[in-house]
Amino acid sequence: MCRHLAYLGPPVTLGSLLLDPPYGLLRQSWAPRDMRGGGTINADGFGIGWYPAGADPVRYRRAQPLWSDTTLPELAAVTATGAVLAAVRSATVGMPLHETAAAPFAEGSWLFSHNGVVRGWPDTLVPLARDLPVRDLITLDVPTDSAVVWALVRHRLRSGAALDEAVAGTVAAVAEAAPGSRLNLLLTDGSTVVASVVGHALSIRRGPGSVLVASEPSDDDPGWQAVPDGRLVVATTAGFEVRELTTDGRDRS
Ligand code: GLN
Repeated sequence: MCRHLAYLGPPVTLGSLLLDPPYGLLRQSWAPRDMRGGGTINADGFGIGWYPAGADPVRYRRAQPLWSDTTLPELAAVTATGAVLAAVRSATVGMPLHETAAAPFAEGSWLFSHNGVVRGWPDTLVPLARDLPVRDLITLDVPTDSAVVWALVRHRLRSGAALDEAVAGTVAAVAEAAPGSRLNLLLTDGSTVVASVVGHALSIRRGPGSVLVASEPSDDDPGWQAVPDGRLVVATTAGFEVRELTTDGRDRS
């Protein structure tokens, strides 16, 4: 159910990161190797967010399968960047198929993706949504569980929470309100990547001055490490930490 990745490091082309690897996001759009808990392909849209030097991120999103976009390969071959968050989508049954439902969701320097499902949506999220400003609710990107989860994360960020606090706090709140939810969240500001592992796979690979966090390895490099369930990953180009999330979703470190 959806596959996402985030990269920080020396500039690379979007093509070399997403389209060229043997099991990269392009391949994962039609033949993922590790789809847990439903879904077979990720054909309901895709999105790429990247950081032009010194600027807030820009996005390229479409409601069509990644493999069917004939414009992207040329663009991706010449667009180089040192920070990326990208995703391919397998829509949860009943949720709209629209470009605005494809991650990354964005505001300012933040890019966000949710891989998973909120159980009992929309009713289980009503008590949490009540604490959001009315403006956020009437300008929600799209009526999906992931868009509400993004609004909850963003609300914490706007209130001054650090990236790890915003992700861990939101996972805790949603896990309590909607038990059994799959909550692999991925958030970056272009310098730090934070990822939760709750119900879906996640792997991480360090390179020279780089880090790649992905739902599944994009190649057979032995450097990939699988992150166990119930963890929070905090990564920068200098290294990464894997912390345990408590059963209530709080970051225990
Ligand atoms: N529930 C989200 C959506 O429909 C994410 C789906 C997924 O991870 N497969 O957009």
